[in-house]
Amino acid sequence: MSLPPQSLPVGPFRLDGGAMFGVVPRSLWEKLYPVEEDNRIVLGLNPVLIQGNDRIILVDAGSPESGSRLLNELAKRGVSPAAVTDLIFTHLHFDHSGGAFPIDKNGTVVPLFPNATVHVTREELEDALNPDERTRHFYRTEIASYISRTGRAVLVEQPTFVGEDVELVPAPGHTQGHLAVWVYRERQYLIPGDLIPTYHHLNIHYMTSFDENTRLNIQTKKKLLEKAANRSTVIFFYHGTRCTSGELYMDGKHFQINK
Ligand SMILES: [Zn+2]
Repeated sequence: MSLPPQSLPVGPFRLDGGAMFGVVPRSLWEKLYPVEEDNRIVLGLNPVLIQGNDRIILVDAGSPESGSRLLNELAKRGVSPAAVTDLIFTHLHFDHSGGAFPIDKNGTVVPLFPNATVHVTREELEDALNPDERTRHFYRTEIASYISRTGRAVLVEQPTFVGEDVELVPAPGHTQGHLAVWVYRERQYLIPGDLIPTYHHLNIHYMTSFDENTRLNIQTKKKLLEKAANRSTVIFFYHGTRCTSGELYMDGKHFQINK
């Protein structure tokens, strides 16, 4: 039986508020999120569980500190770590991949999901294996090299299906190798990763300072949202706190969400 995809809250995660909202002035974003003393705001970390058709799929996995919360959220839903068949990563930034691959004191990766096939784009894996000055702080090369060594990774280069109704599509912008996930069931579901990290980022002008390619990010975001607006679509927000998913609708020219 197929269940609707579910968001698993494994946060919190704190980031500089200005970095999360890019060019948007603090006078605007501070009304959306309470600002802590050091200018940081509290965000969520929300991997998505997709069950059905003989597969148990996780899209993203939280930060390195999230592992036990993730296992807890899965246990509440009757899912054991060994039962997870597929791990899809929108990208390999540590706050998305770290929860599935804790690193012990000796620098060894201890995978939490021993039977899962990993899906990530070839470009993302290569970038995570060879970070540069700009990207070094966002990747853990130990995780990338573990994924490339296991031989269990499927490296995505074009739109591709995992099972019958889960589609992975390259969605560059936040990182060059970023991907988005569509789930086609009685309704349509979109998991856009960090292209649309909170519902505020549905506004085309709201982007993070971590985006590698801002212009491409805007183009990809528009393309995904235009497709989403054609059919009843629920969107998931990985870094949302109060709002982690909602149904998309158009308000004039603006994309909005029914929370
Ligand atoms: Zn990211």
